[in-house]
Parts: sequence; C-alpha cells; structure tokens
Amino acid sequence: MIVTSKQPPIVIVGGGPVGLVLAVSMQQQGLPVRVLEARQRGAAYQDKRALALSYGSKLILEKVGAWADVAPQATVIETIHVSQRGGLGRVKLHAAEHDLPALGYVVSYGALIQALDGVLKAEDVLYGASATAVKQDAQHATVTFITDAQSQSLTTPLLVIAEGGRSLDNIPMLQRDTQAYGHDALVSKVHCELPHNGIAYERFTPTGPMALLPNGAHDFSLVWTGDKTAVDRLLTLDDATFLTELHAAFGDRVGRFLSVQKRLSFPLIKSQLADNTTPHMVVIGNAAQTMHPVAGQGFNVGLRDATALLKQLQTSEHADWGSEAMLAAYAQTRTRDTKGGLMFTDFLVNTFTNDWIGVSRLRGLGLGLLDVMQPAKKVLVSKMSYGK
Ligand SMILES: Cc1cc2nc3c(=O)[nH]c(=O)nc-3n(C[C@H](O)[C@H](O)[C@H](O)COP(=O)(O)OP(=O)(O)OC[C@H]3O[C@@H](n4cnc5c(N)ncnc54)[C@H](O)[C@@H]3O)c2cc1C
Repeated sequence: MIVTSKQPPIVIVGGGPVGLVLAVSMQQQGLPVRVLEARQRGAAYQDKRALALSYGSKLILEKVGAWADVAPQATVIETIHVSQRGGLGRVKLHAAEHDLPALGYVVSYGALIQALDGVLKAEDVLYGASATAVKQDAQHATVTFITDAQSQSLTTPLLVIAEGGRSLDNIPMLQRDTQAYGHDALVSKVHCELPHNGIAYERFTPTGPMALLPNGAHDFSLVWTGDKTAVDRLLTLDDATFLTELHAAFGDRVGRFLSVQKRLSFPLIKSQLADNTTPHMVVIGNAAQTMHPVAGQGFNVGLRDATALLKQLQTSEHADWGSEAMLAAYAQTRTRDTKGGLMFTDFLVNTFTNDWIGVSRLRGLGLGLLDVMQPAKKVLVSKMSYGK
C-alpha cells in the first residue's frame, strides 16, 4: 500500500497504553496518525498502578521497541498459584512446564507509558487535548476537542476511540452495556516475610477473589475484592489491623505481612459495546471492554485490539480505511478474543465467589483435578498468554 503525506491521518483519542501501542506501531509502518491525549506529556509517569502483562503482551511491546525500557522494572511471574479459602485443592501453573520463559510480568502503568513515549514520535501527539464529542457521516468522522481553552475539530477517515471508556459517554451508534459486579477492588502494595520467588497468588474467598502479584524484589501488589461496604471498612483500618486481616484471609504462604502502602479502591464493572465499530469509527482497549481484574485479561485483550487493528490497516487500501467492510473484517478478528475474555472472567468470578454448601468441595475437586490434567492447564495458559 502506498501512503502519501497528503493523506489525512487516522486520529486516536486517548494516549493510554492501548492508544500508544497503536500509534507507535502505525508510525513504525509509516502510516499517518495523530493522537489526542487529555493529559500533559509525562503526567502519567508516577502512576504506580500495577498491570499484569501476559507473555503475549510482552511480545507486542518487544515488537514496538518499548520492552527494553520496561524490562528492568518488570517483575517476572514464573508460577501462578490458584487456591480457595476454606477449601481443598489448588492449581499451580509453571512457565517452564509450558515452554515459556514467563507466565507474565508485573509492570507499573507509569513505567509502561514512559517506555512507550520513548519510542513514540511526539510530533504526532497533541497533549492537553480533551475530546468532547464525536460524530460520523458517510465519508468520515469528526472529533471535537478542547485545547488551550479553545474548541477545535479534526476530520479523519477513521477515528479510533481509546480513551478508557470513562469520558465519552455518548458515542453515536454504539450502545454500551454496563453492569456493576457489585464489588470494589482494593489495591495496594504489601511487603511480606518470605520472598515471592516469582509466584503470583490468586485466592478465591466467599467474599470475592484476591490476588498477590510479585512486584519488585520483595513486594507484592495486592488486589482484594469484595462488596463495597467490606472494602470501605478495609480502607479505614489502621495498618496493623489491616495486615492481620489480610493474613487471616490469605493464609500463610508468604509468611506474615509486614507493611502496607497507601490503599485505594475502585468499583468493578463489566462494560462492553454491542458493536465496537460503526463506519469511520472504532473503539479499542478499555473503552471497548472493561472486565473484572480477577483473570488479568482486560488490559491484555486491549493490547491485542491495537495489534489487530494495525494488521487490518496494513492490509487495507487507504481508500478503505474506516469503510464498513474494513471495520467488519477487524470486528470479526476480535469477537472471539473479547467474548472469550469476558466469559472466562465471568466464569471465574461466578464459580468461585459462591458460598453454597458443597460448592466449595466441588471447586476443590475441580482445582485438584485441573492440577494433574496437563492438557487443561495448557488451554488455560494459552488463554492467559495469547487470548486463544
Ligand atoms: C482506577 C483504576 C485502577 C486500575 N487498576 C488496575 C490494576 O491494579 N491492575 C490492572 O491490571 N488493571 C487496572 N486497571 C485497568 C487498566 O488500567 C486498564 O486495563 C488499562 O489502563 C487500559 O488501557 P487503555 O489504554 O485502554 O485505557 P487507559 O489506560 O484508561 O487510557 C486512556 C487514555 O485516554 C486519555 N483520555 C481519557 N479521556 C480522554 C478524552 N476525552 N480526550 C482525550 N484523551 C482522553 C486518558 O488521559 C488516558 O491517557 C485499573 C483501571 C482503573 C480505572
């Protein structure tokens, strides 16, 4: 495909990790792109939110040249240990058993954005530009945005919405289905008595799943979910009481919990669009689908949206960018992965957050069986690593 500099750029709303991966990949392929990002450059670098990257996501970052900067700060997950509170049975997944160097990596959101900024040509990004409205007609899409207190607009053959799903409520033609899980997630970082040895723990409790992800030399990132009242109570506890309750809920696998950093919480929602595309517009990343963090799927599915869209752009003529046919082809490549991620996540949340008499024993049996069933473990690891 021949691309000339006269061709109007594809406009991406949102320079989060998903928007940036798409923008960098497009630049590297010589495709015209323009990013509108509400924040100023560098404003996200201190965001310590811990993201669990799958092995497949690491390969994507490697391909765009950002991994070298992320790697020194990433913590390798070599083993995933799944258990349930008050029940028998557990599953252990080991990277080496599946011929993978790692099952995943824990990185901070800020470090990831900084690494992507390092390989991005900044002249294609308009920072401090907040999109306020989008619309489309038969030929193109238009985005209106505020920058320097002025309202401006851009017209493009394809508008990519990658703004995380929290600012543009009304995207014409696209219907959003949002359900609250009725749970909040408490996130923090904790320091434990024993070394983590590259093990990520996923523990299902009757009040909600909790995860400890190795992060740094001796620390874990904690995600502890539960109903809002329970999470609000955990937020108000003094550190010592909080650590004692965490120990009681998590058990002894990492010894005593010695210290905890600032605790934050956010509501867990499941959100998806009936369609992710409409002519001249496509929605990707968290803006397209938001999942419960239990299976660590959401972010990784979002990165795969970006790479699939790049592939579609590369194999389409410029005149077809944003056409119904091109977007239908893109949507077809994404349905299975997205729906699979949502179903897998729902399955884990619903099956394990269930306190019926006898169910815990069945789950224990299931976990015990899964642990000795290599083919089933292979399917699970492939789903978590590559989404298939
Ligand atoms: C509070 C919170 C905590 C989370 N914690 C975790 C966690 O601990 N672990 C985990 O794995 N996942 C976590 N997630 C989910 C994770 O952050 C997402 O999966 C990931 O960030 C999705 O990337 P994205 O690029 O699609 O969207 P985002 O990272 O949300 O990026 C969207 C970008 O768009 C910009 N933007 C927004 N609106 C506009 C606009 N109108 N105009 C222009 N730019 C705009 C934003 O400034 C941002 O840079 C959390 C999410 C939230 C909301």
